[in-house]
Amino acid sequence: MQGGGAGVREEKILVLVRLRPLSEKEIARNEVLDWECINDTAILFRNSLQERSAFPTAYTFDRVFRGDCCTKEVYEEGAKEIALSVVSGINSSIFAYGQTSSGKTYTMIGITEYTVADIYDYIHRHEERAFVLKFSAMEIYNEAVRDLLSSDSTPLRVLDDPEKGTIVEKLTEETLRDWSHLKGLLSICEAQRRTGETSLNETSSRSHQILRLTIESSAREFIGKNNSTTLAASVNFIDLAGSERASQALSAGARLKEGCHINRSLLTLGTVIRKLSKGRNGHVNYRDSKLTRILQPCLGGNARTAIICTLSPARSHVEQSRNTLLFASCAK
Ligand code: ADP
Ligand code: MG
Repeated sequence: MQGGGAGVREEKILVLVRLRPLSEKEIARNEVLDWECINDTAILFRNSLQERSAFPTAYTFDRVFRGDCCTKEVYEEGAKEIALSVVSGINSSIFAYGQTSSGKTYTMIGITEYTVADIYDYIHRHEERAFVLKFSAMEIYNEAVRDLLSSDSTPLRVLDDPEKGTIVEKLTEETLRDWSHLKGLLSICEAQRRTGETSLNETSSRSHQILRLTIESSAREFIGKNNSTTLAASVNFIDLAGSERASQALSAGARLKEGCHINRSLLTLGTVIRKLSKGRNGHVNYRDSKLTRILQPCLGGNARTAIICTLSPARSHVEQSRNTLLFASCAK
């Protein structure tokens, strides 16, 4: 934990790495496993000895998960505490970062469902408070924001509201009735994202998806009285665009050029995360991309953040895996 200015507690960003198992296809083509988790916090590039370096290169993080760990384990030991801080009125963001096919969506779907189940469990155990849960979902593709709960694909505007801060204009916000209502909404989002995929060729690997759950609660005994206080916070689940879109640009010095197929939001996120992880109190360039603008209230300050970096173990993906670990190292 780093000391922030003006009484704001700045949390360290939690950095987790999840290795996926080899897929059946990869096994069928005799892919070599290049990575091995040597304990709960270190991951090792197995072939560094063959590269004639004196010591194998191990990377360490807050937690690393082996290919045979299930999503429940990643949730319980990694994301749970941060995701559930929302019930205490603290904003949070859980990201999945990694190249396409490394397991981002697989991981985020599970984490979202476990979180919501735990939130409902918490609500049932706290009958002294009244809770309202709201859900919204959006996709950012080429800096255009689209509502995943609406069939209208017109880009939404991101605006600065004097009272509410940054808002996404006209974004659908559904008040959740129960768990099955949410399951229905999640499948609408998935279908919307898939529609995009066929019409826009690989959209899902180039777009960011933000699922946002907002929880408001107040003590029942004070409802309707002057001294009633409402706690409100959001937890965001962010399934990022494939990191292969940004890694080349990053190694070239993170310069953005019009017209080249670089994902501005992913690059800006990297810059923002690096600044936050160093605990700098200075200017953080949230406004440079739609993703960071929308997420600003849920990043930095006393908001809590976890980044799950997903990794393919295959030899053929070694360059991208290294880039992902490099990003992860910068974030911790
Ligand atoms: P991404 O969203 O990063 O492109 P996906 O989540 O779609 O990647 O994962 C690619 C494939 O690998 C999918 O078929 C998924 O079911 C599988 N997969 C990913 N992670 C795991 C895992 N930890 N265990 C088993 N299968 C996985
Ligand atoms: Mg995906």
